[in-house]
Amino acid sequence: MSDPGDGPSTRVRREPPRFRRVAVRRVDRVGPRMIRVTLGGPELEGLVVEEPAASVRLLLPPAGERELVVPRWNGNEFRLPDGRRAPIRTLTPRRVDVDALELDVEIVLHGGGAASAWAEAAEPGDEVAVSGPGRGYTVDPDASSFLVAGDETAIPAISQLLEAIRPEAAVQVRVEVAHPSGRIELPHHPGAAVGWWDLAEGAPPGDALVAAVQAADVGADTQVWVAGEAAAVQRIRRHLFDERGLPRSRGHVRGYWKAGRSEGG
Ligand SMILES: Cc1cc2nc3c(=O)[nH]c(=O)nc-3n(C[C@H](O)[C@H](O)[C@H](O)COP(=O)(O)OP(=O)(O)OC[C@H]3O[C@@H](n4cnc5c(N)ncnc54)[C@H](O)[C@@H]3O)c2cc1C
Repeated sequence: MSDPGDGPSTRVRREPPRFRRVAVRRVDRVGPRMIRVTLGGPELEGLVVEEPAASVRLLLPPAGERELVVPRWNGNEFRLPDGRRAPIRTLTPRRVDVDALELDVEIVLHGGGAASAWAEAAEPGDEVAVSGPGRGYTVDPDASSFLVAGDETAIPAISQLLEAIRPEAAVQVRVEVAHPSGRIELPHHPGAAVGWWDLAEGAPPGDALVAAVQAADVGADTQVWVAGEAAAVQRIRRHLFDERGLPRSRGHVRGYWKAGRSEGG
């Protein structure tokens, strides 16, 4: 998907991969601010996610409805038959079980937005659709030091990175939470030092993440992965690449959402 920081585009794009219809199998509270939804169904056959921090697109029922409506590609985006933009959101495919034909997504309850509201109300049997996966992050198998940082939307990806980075590596993990209850247990990694950074009340999202990255050690061999709010990650890019001189090949910094703007436009 395009970075949420990108402007509107008028070029005709190739139709993205097909949507696979799935149904909710289970709903679990990971914490007060995050819900894990297990999706399943025969159409997940062939969905293979090889790298951590990849993406899938989740097609939700139209606002206020429970029934899924499959949209049409108009050469630029998916539209519902009545002309509205289809409610599609980008998430991390946290766990794919190719035998059980299941996919877990973990959704932040941020108090507004189609995905957040859908997750809060989700029940077994509810129908949605998924497409993807989009590319993930190639973990350098030889690297001995990592900085992995993000906000709550990046927790599923950070969890996968902790599972993928070799146990001998040192991993600084920095996570911004908009509320202290956003802290959840991360997978154990023997070399990880995990720091939770609270966003101060009234501060713009990402403020604590910027400070967390600024305070981190970035050595000559450190690989950096960061994801979070688009304006904050711009500041982080400037800090890492311009001020610290981190080679771009060692930094993967990605906007996951944009404050004040719905992914649905
Ligand atoms: C590659 C990738 C992977 C991602 N993985 C995940 C994931 O695993 N889990 C996950 O929850 N999100 C993930 N995101 C982020 C998610 O796509 C956005 O947060 C999305 O906007 C949520 O959709 P929504 O319908 O809830 O809100 P939208 O309708 O898109 O937005 C409504 C309003 O809420 C605001 N908003 C959106 N997200 C947040 C937030 N986290 N905190 C506060 N305000 C917010 C918007 O600025 C807007 O004002 C990922 C994004 C990308 C690009």
